Amino acid sequence: MPKSIDALSYYAATATPFAAQPALAGEVTADVCVIGAGYTGLSAALALAEAGYKVVVLEANTVGFGASGRNGGQVCTGFSSGQAKIEAQLGKDGARKCFALAEESKVLLKERIAKHAIDCDLTWGYIHAIPKAHQFDELKAWKDEYGALGYTDTSILTKAELEAKLGSRAYHGGLREGGAGHLHPLNYCLGLARAAIAAGAAIHENSPVLSVETGAAPSARTAQGSVRAKFMVIGGNAYLGQTVPALANRIMPVASYIIATEPLGQNRARSLIRDNEAVANTKFIVDYFRLTKDTRMLFGGRASYSTLEPPNLGAYMRPRMLKVFPQLRDVKIDYAWGGYIAITYNRIPDCGRLGASTYYAHGYSGQGVALAGLYGKLMAEAIRGQAERFDLLARIKHLPFPGGPVRTPMLVAAMMYFRLRDALS
Ligand SMILES: Cc1cc2nc3c(=O)[nH]c(=O)nc-3n(C[C@H](O)[C@H](O)[C@H](O)COP(=O)(O)OP(=O)(O)OC[C@H]3O[C@@H](n4cnc5c(N)ncnc54)[C@H](O)[C@@H]3O)c2cc1C
Repeated sequence: MPKSIDALSYYAATATPFAAQPALAGEVTADVCVIGAGYTGLSAALALAEAGYKVVVLEANTVGFGASGRNGGQVCTGFSSGQAKIEAQLGKDGARKCFALAEESKVLLKERIAKHAIDCDLTWGYIHAIPKAHQFDELKAWKDEYGALGYTDTSILTKAELEAKLGSRAYHGGLREGGAGHLHPLNYCLGLARAAIAAGAAIHENSPVLSVETGAAPSARTAQGSVRAKFMVIGGNAYLGQTVPALANRIMPVASYIIATEPLGQNRARSLIRDNEAVANTKFIVDYFRLTKDTRMLFGGRASYSTLEPPNLGAYMRPRMLKVFPQLRDVKIDYAWGGYIAITYNRIPDCGRLGASTYYAHGYSGQGVALAGLYGKLMAEAIRGQAERFDLLARIKHLPFPGGPVRTPMLVAAMMYFRLRDALS
């Protein structure tokens, strides 16, 4: 029986048609073998195929099956960690460069959507809403930090200003960004895949990689075939499991869940989010929500480190939505699904090399819609001989998560701590 986390999502139900791609059969050679057809793998595949490389992508399920086809669709600014943790490792100048790269990730997303005519409802405007009045000063500090980094398309919203925009009394103010927004994540992913295929890449769906060799001539083996290549890109993120043991403890898969209501009609939908922005609260365990093109409220949140899945995701998430929008009490939930986010200890994405010619990037810590495309492109750049920008990010050090039997209990305990911290702060 499929897990309810994999239940039909609003995105799968409204996906643009995409031709099934054949499974890998037999021995194949390529310049680059890419594992995973999410944003990371497809972005690298697209950039390399456009540069004339022979690229073969191996996907265990279907294009966008992982986080890229099931996320909140929020196009975010910067890194989940904030700047201070990056500055502590790379210094002021290095951290500034990283922020500039994160800004570039949004430009890249926008340019690719325009260049490849990807129909994915891209909309700009994003509000960070504060659940506690005393957080107002943090908003000001946040705005100042962005301003000092050259990102000035932001404004502070008082409680009254926020309530004029949001049909909710749950928040005490917010930071609005013009340079962040939202999109239909699966259609964006399918659009990247279509563009990569048009540029000459081969994508093999239903081709789980069982093992990889990361030596001078990397290779990947599936049940029915193998790919030998000059380079390898690993983009399996939270879904990679133990396929590449060296990567397994560098990230932790965390479940996040989303519901989509029935269509509300323009008037009712806009009474909830007047200007159709994406919204997220500023808690550690984030609630994120937005309207869809067909006027549904799409509401995501909760995070679970435990492998136990709630038996009914809709019933589990609904009270969370009603806390913000009690006026939706009469509304039907049409879709409920979830997915696995890969987090790192410090919430900064982790990237690097395994051997000389195998590259990996993962652990966007809930902020990969824009960033994963950038990391994919930077891996392609490094393969093409320009590794400076990739190496800046790869210099960031990461602590591994514990392995073995203590792994899950320790993370469940950590999650309980953060829930308590959110409740008390
Ligand atoms: C519920 C949810 C909500 C989120 N909301 C947001 C948001 O609003 N904004 C934001 O910026 N980020 C969000 N994220 C995070 C974002 O979706 C991810 O950071 C991003 O999609 C990562 O892309 P990826 O290509 O690295 O990984 P994925 O999209 O997970 O792709 C990995 C792919 O690799 C394949 N794979 C794994 N192992 C193998 C193997 N052995 N062989 C072959 N293929 C393999 C998988 O099947 C999968 O298709 C959310 C994530 C989830 C789950």
